[in-house]
Amino acid sequence: MSFLSNLRKIFGGASKSRGGAGGGSSFGGDDANTHLIYAKCRRCGEPLLGRINMMNEPSQEDDDTWVVRKTLSGSGKNYCFQTVEVTLQFDRQKKNVLSAEATGGALISAEEYAALLAAQQAAAAAAASAAAEDTPQTKEA
Ligand SMILES: [Zn+2]
Repeated sequence: MSFLSNLRKIFGGASKSRGGAGGGSSFGGDDANTHLIYAKCRRCGEPLLGRINMMNEPSQEDDDTWVVRKTLSGSGKNYCFQTVEVTLQFDRQKKNVLSAEATGGALISAEEYAALLAAQQAAAAAAASAAAEDTPQTKEA
């Protein structure tokens, strides 16, 4: 759990929340108006994070529920330019997700997202240290 809250801190710090009204939340930078979505690219498996501004982004349907469509795309570092299109439907209070679907990828939980991200970072670190070991500098002298 502490890993997750670290993660939230990182992402919260990365996005400057405008204003500061209603600040004072100790919960990273994610206020109650931000809904996070976690997805995984179908092609390369990259974990993707999307933020929905619940104040502005959802549009109201005829039945008073709220629908948001969000397109998430990867960093491109996997040479994969697949986009994942997520559609979420919220109830009238915008509190509960009534339905969620994704094309081009799959929706995952925050825990799965954190695990995927950690696995990717571990792989990157391993690759970096392997590359460092390959440098022939220490052989000379
Ligand atoms: Zn991808």
